[in-house]
Amino acid sequence: MPFRAPDDWMYTARGSSSSRYPSLIEVVVPSPEIPGGCFCGEVRYAISGVPEQSLVCHCPDCRRSAGAQSVGWIFIRSEQFDLRSGSPKSYNSSVGVTRTFCGTCGTTLTWVGDQQPGRMDVTIGSLDDPNQFPPTRAVYRKHKLDWAAEI
Ligand SMILES: [Zn+2]
Ligand SMILES: [Zn+2]
Repeated sequence: MPFRAPDDWMYTARGSSSSRYPSLIEVVVPSPEIPGGCFCGEVRYAISGVPEQSLVCHCPDCRRSAGAQSVGWIFIRSEQFDLRSGSPKSYNSSVGVTRTFCGTCGTTLTWVGDQQPGRMDVTIGSLDDPNQFPPTRAVYRKHKLDWAAEI
């Protein structure tokens, strides 16, 4: 019969301050990876490591490009982003700013600014687990739609 750890084994081990099997845990616990993709599944990506920050943007460019009242973004370093499938389309939403989206279903995926070399933003809504990194602030709040705070 193959070895099978109890269901709470990893949780208990990670939460324990005085683990009895530290070397084993290092091997068993996988390095964190943040998977995501577009609505239709054509574009898939994975982010390694942890985002630098998570925020909501109310700017008109985000609103129009995503067709939503605001857009949640996580900020990462470019090398953290690994495109696994598909070929996102891109366009310049303003001078020096490139946004990508799935050419089939239209999901907004990333934001890259020439003024921020080596960095990029990824839409929270395209993450497989969009609850993983809750935004801690909002930007361009003066553009927030009147009704956005009401409902
Ligand atoms: Zn798609
Ligand atoms: Zn924006």
